[in-house]
Amino acid sequence: MLISVEQLELHPVSISETYPTGALDYHTSEFRQVGDLKVRGVAELVGGEIRFRGHLETRVAATCSRCLGPVEIPVACDFDLTYRPMETIARNEELELPAGELGVGFYEDPGIEVADVVTEQVNLFMPMQVVCSPDCRGLCPTCGVNRNLEACHCPEAPHESPFASLLERKPE
Ligand SMILES: [Zn+2]
Ligand SMILES: [Zn+2]
Repeated sequence: MLISVEQLELHPVSISETYPTGALDYHTSEFRQVGDLKVRGVAELVGGEIRFRGHLETRVAATCSRCLGPVEIPVACDFDLTYRPMETIARNEELELPAGELGVGFYEDPGIEVADVVTEQVNLFMPMQVVCSPDCRGLCPTCGVNRNLEACHCPEAPHESPFASLLERKPE
C-alpha cells in the first residue's frame, strides 16, 4: 500500500493492513515471517514532512546462534517516523541530521510504501544475536552435540573452566 503525498495533502490517512507470510521481502536470510504481519497507524502531512505513527505485530522464525535450533520470536512494536522530502538533501548537500533524529527518513514522490516501512521496522526490532533461551548451552565445540539435550564426555576446554584442575586436586 502506498501512502501518497497527494492524498495526505487532502487529509490524514489511516492504515490497517495485513501482510500474509511470504508477501514481504525483508532482504535478509537471518529470519523469515511465519504469521500474518498486521500494521495499524495513521499518516499525516506536517509542514511538508510525512509523519507515520502506528503499531505492528507479527511472528518470525530464526536460528539460535549458539545451538542452531529453531527460534520463534513474537514481534510487536510501536513506531513514530518522520519522512522529509528527498529534495531537501538535493537542495542542501551538506545537510546533517541533528543527533537524536533517528526516526527521520526521506521520501520521494509519490510517497512512502507501507511494505518498506514495516520490513525496516521488523529488521530494527530483531536482536543482533538470536538465542533460543538466555541460558542456551550451545553445541559442544569438540563433538558437536547439542548440550541442551545431552551431555557429552568431552574434556572441558581450558578457557571454559579455568579452575577445573584446581577443583580436582583438593589440597590435603
Ligand atoms: Zn539455543
Ligand atoms: Zn562433546
